[in-house]
Amino acid sequence: MSARHDVVVVGAGHGGAQACIALRAAGYAGSILLVGKEPELPYERPPLSKDYLAGKKPLQRMLIRPAGYWSEQNIDTALSTTVTHVDADARTITTDKRGVIAYRHLVWAAGADPRRLNCAGHDLKGVHTVRHKGDADALAGELESISRVVVIGGGYIGLEAAAIMTKLGKQVTLLEAGERVLARVAGAAISTFYQDAHRAAGVDLRLQSSIQGLEGIDRHVTAVKLGNGTSFPCECVIVGIGVTPTVKPLVDAGAEHANGVRVDENCRTSLPDVYAIGDCAEHRNAFADAAWIRLESVQNATDMAATVAAHICGCPKPYHAVPRFWSDQYDLKLQTVGLSLGHDQAITRGDPAIGSFTVAYLRSGKLIALDCVNNPKDFAQGRALVTEQIEVDPAQLADVSIPLKTLATTAPAAHA
Ligand code: NAP
Repeated sequence: MSARHDVVVVGAGHGGAQACIALRAAGYAGSILLVGKEPELPYERPPLSKDYLAGKKPLQRMLIRPAGYWSEQNIDTALSTTVTHVDADARTITTDKRGVIAYRHLVWAAGADPRRLNCAGHDLKGVHTVRHKGDADALAGELESISRVVVIGGGYIGLEAAAIMTKLGKQVTLLEAGERVLARVAGAAISTFYQDAHRAAGVDLRLQSSIQGLEGIDRHVTAVKLGNGTSFPCECVIVGIGVTPTVKPLVDAGAEHANGVRVDENCRTSLPDVYAIGDCAEHRNAFADAAWIRLESVQNATDMAATVAAHICGCPKPYHAVPRFWSDQYDLKLQTVGLSLGHDQAITRGDPAIGSFTVAYLRSGKLIALDCVNNPKDFAQGRALVTEQIEVDPAQLADVSIPLKTLATTAPAAHA
């Protein structure tokens, strides 16, 4: 007979860990099993491409809960374990290490896998992604022996890795396919600011770069070649070209899916008593005009975990959290609230030249998002305005002498 748990959580990242924590915090007394592919207990992922890689933060200080927490809370863990199959009719999962496990509720929090290059040389030694601790360890292990790094992709991973490598004294080239960096997550003014910051720090940043292939000697990378023939000699390549949601077993089990597994406002998939949360969960987001989107952020994983725990405990709290992101590069902290997708007006508040400013995004006169660079005050004060999607006067918004918090009282709420 297979083992059985009241709740089986698949994925021991931010979402999976927080689902267990939220269940116990809500007084849930049923049995819980947390299944994770990596050998480590749940740890915070953001430092991997920053302080952990730079050797400034050990794993112990990244653990989401101290090592003893899981047994103290009677949460079983199955680490280094991969789920290969889900049977939604039998209510079981099949794993590579623990065989078949039955569930009453299944929470799928398996996250996403880094996209790989598919050009020649993509599998040479010295080519890295940064998603898991093991990835960061492999890269860190090579740092002493390398001097030239090519970073492929100008998203958060690529830019944060470029900043760390530059700080470590490496010669860094960053190759982005699109017309600007951070195009998926921020407006043009933010992209320009970060491109300038990286170039000022010494990064050779190239836009609209199409990779033709990676070259190597003795199976180790020696250069990245572009379609236009330009070649960048290097000993190390860091690839940050996005992620693919890890959903195959759920999709094979019949879960409705598109760009991820689709969930409703309580994070329920189309399969009975099966939830999906975090990077792999596609949902209708109120802050994206109810469009189907996936959000790849700690905030989304944590808030969806709370939604699932509340639903399992019988007191549903539908997901309606305002999206939030952050990124640390050099001495610049970018804090984002809301989604700028589909904005029709972008207003810069403050002077990018002094390194502390905010870009406010409006759609039909309503404030939908803020990108705050070294400006925690605007981030703190603006969050409520974005949550309420307040209608604001652009001239007032641009005036730094007017604190954002006062705008809430001078404008009518545009969104319930
Ligand atoms: P990402 O945000 O999707 O950015 C990938 C970038 O790579 C995009 O600019 C993309 O350009 C570019 N790209 C794609 N294919 C390329 C190619 N063949 N050659 C050159 N450039 C290419 O993904 P990511 O930076 O890899 O991050 C992965 C995940 O980790 C995301 O979920 C991210 O949010 C998360 N993360 C978050 C943080 C944070 O919140 N601070 C930090 C690290 C990682 P196009 O858009 O033109 O395709």
